[in-house]
Amino acid sequence: MRTHNLGYPRIGSRRELKKACEAYWAGKQTLSELLTAGRDIRQKNWQLQQDAGIDLIPCNDFSFYDQVLDMSLMLGAVPERYTRLITEQQLSVTDLMFAMARGYQQDGYDITAMEMTKWFDTNYHYIVPEFTAAQQFSLFSEKVIDEFNEARQQQINAKPVLLGPVSYLLLGKEKEQHFSRLSLIDRLLPVYMQIIGKLYNAGARTIQLDEPCLSLNLTDKERQIFRGTYQEIRQTFPGLHIMLASYFECYGDNLPVALQLPVDTLHLDLVRCPSQLGDILASPLLSDTLQLSLGLVDGRNIWINDHRHSLSLIWQASNRLGADRVWIAPSCSLLHSPCDLSLESQENTLTPEIKQWLAFAKQKIDEVVTLQQLASESPAAAAKAKLEANIKAIESRKTSPLIHNGKVKQRTAKITDADARREHIFAERRVQQRAALKLPLFPTTTIGSFPQTKEVRTWRAALKKQEITPEQYDALLKAETEKAIRWQEEIGIDVLVHGEFERNDMVEYFGEQLSGFVFTENGWVQSYGSRCVKPPIIYGDVHRETPMTVYWSSYAQSLTNKLVKGMLTGPVTILQWSFVRNDQPRSETCTQIALAIRDEVTDLEKAGIKVIQIDEPAIREGLPLRKENWEDYLHWAVRAFRIAASGVKDETQVHTHMCYSEFNDIIQHIADMDADVITIECSRSQMELLDAFAAFRYPNEIGPGVYDIHSPRVPSVDEMTALMEKAKAVIPADQLWVNPDCGLKTRHWDETRKALIAMVATARELRKTV
Ligand code: GLN
Ligand code: ZN
Repeated sequence: MRTHNLGYPRIGSRRELKKACEAYWAGKQTLSELLTAGRDIRQKNWQLQQDAGIDLIPCNDFSFYDQVLDMSLMLGAVPERYTRLITEQQLSVTDLMFAMARGYQQDGYDITAMEMTKWFDTNYHYIVPEFTAAQQFSLFSEKVIDEFNEARQQQINAKPVLLGPVSYLLLGKEKEQHFSRLSLIDRLLPVYMQIIGKLYNAGARTIQLDEPCLSLNLTDKERQIFRGTYQEIRQTFPGLHIMLASYFECYGDNLPVALQLPVDTLHLDLVRCPSQLGDILASPLLSDTLQLSLGLVDGRNIWINDHRHSLSLIWQASNRLGADRVWIAPSCSLLHSPCDLSLESQENTLTPEIKQWLAFAKQKIDEVVTLQQLASESPAAAAKAKLEANIKAIESRKTSPLIHNGKVKQRTAKITDADARREHIFAERRVQQRAALKLPLFPTTTIGSFPQTKEVRTWRAALKKQEITPEQYDALLKAETEKAIRWQEEIGIDVLVHGEFERNDMVEYFGEQLSGFVFTENGWVQSYGSRCVKPPIIYGDVHRETPMTVYWSSYAQSLTNKLVKGMLTGPVTILQWSFVRNDQPRSETCTQIALAIRDEVTDLEKAGIKVIQIDEPAIREGLPLRKENWEDYLHWAVRAFRIAASGVKDETQVHTHMCYSEFNDIIQHIADMDADVITIECSRSQMELLDAFAAFRYPNEIGPGVYDIHSPRVPSVDEMTALMEKAKAVIPADQLWVNPDCGLKTRHWDETRKALIAMVATARELRKTV
């Protein structure tokens, strides 16, 4: 039985990659210094895996930006707008890669970046390949070969990892109409063959081809292409060991295809889909030679592996196949795990008791090796001791009072349908809200945050370092909040916000105040390029001890006679942007968070807040990879929102906000959330997103964002009026609000002021026309 790994985090345990890239972009480091930083990270990662005892170690899992972008460069799929940078500017491959990822605005050039999108259901973003009908491919960068040679020089038993050709095409986008990117496979394959041939000649005997699209719903045509492609690769390289990896879901109805592909090893994500092992072992399609890579150690979450459970799967496989046909591995690349738990020193929240339940990438590598040792015929005493410790930790997690709170469990068990329903239907609430709130037509509001200036961030840092007292911090924030309130009054916004100056991050702020959450110091995970996120860890039953936002909302409301909107993050978003416990269904954890938010909503109401926004920007990104699982998810996600929102009187107006979403296929569920007002990101799509609402005859109120907050550009009144005219054409005027696309946290005050003044003027113009 052998061990391997699918990929190791490339950011470095101290975020060395981020620091090196940003220093290079800022001109503070040379290209050769950057390349050295990359080499150091690779060396460390390889060495660490080798020292741990991993048999086959991935290479080409490193990237300065993104592995899909690297693949585009290897295949010469460089969109035409960048070719001038090669011919005229003689950019190095690295600089060209950064230009493709980040755009190129210098020396008189202004070339846009390639699009970026989420990698399956992770929070990692990849650079979307662009294809044209006349697309040509040719070997351009030899990154994978270089990295393989580099690993070999270090005596590493390296396995090159490549994104497979079919997923590469499927993950890309056609930039012209009237052709299908899949038709490019015949032009693409020869270049893959060239790359694989070079690897073979360099001594690679096993390669990993990632085809994660096998976890999606595929058409027959797509499956056919999988078959043809792998037959060709097999014919060209009869002596090469091909390890095919899909992850994040079951193979499901793609299993027959996967099992018949002429590959040597098939990798299974047994964390997301443990049941597929039994299906495969019993399948008549399982050949006599196919080896299985058992993805047992969770690459997507931070919990320790349950060794007893893993061993039972290993034995199930080895009894049927023989040990030499079984590999042990993480479920997917460890790219999605933080690097190293042993770097956490913070004893205050991440106590030793909690730490014993956690494993980051480095620890997961050890787990893979421990499983291999335990599965051997006579495990060494050290391995047995590890198993004992593992069993103890797993058992203590089942009963620890740190995790389990009887009151919370009882309360979630007692939720009824009535708890998830407002007192009356929207049509009736609306009458009451109109009477209570007395808003004009086309009411104006913002999404919550105002610019978090350098000063605001320095105050928070100073408080943390105890350079200022909590009282001083409080006074500074109060002054900032008051300024924001005064200014909104002055320019004539209808529903004000307090500005969210007290918040570091929309999830962390709540997590810090809820029980059941812990935070790491160093648990960074790559989100895209040099951007990393540090998700909170939900380890126990979630409970709100005291109000979380009432202080700031009521302070802001005390300053003005205008309405101030309370501002909360919704349960689905808190769940989605955290590491979530795996000892109960996600839906259960979500419901617990929903109850905590519900308590906050009712407390805000009691404190005199009449409009309350519960942000759910992440509701769409939580959708399962396979459509057949959507209903179930949407059911509990929508219910969680409703539980959070339904504890208040009819006359209290509940808003929600969503960004980067499409709504067509989930509009029924968005309507089921039954928020009195929904504000959505809309301006970049020229109000097209509203069509879904219009076609559905969405009954509640809508604020389609009238300007893009991701850009410093100040929109004109005419522009915003034109967008609102478009909205008015499809949605009745008395249902419409006027607001920006999203929060203004990342903007500067000068552009924000100008933009909002123009936005208020827009609403006034609109009111004249009705
Ligand atoms: N209320 C949050 C803000 O204004 C919403 C952020 C978001 O939608 N991502 O920052
Ligand atoms: Zn938003």
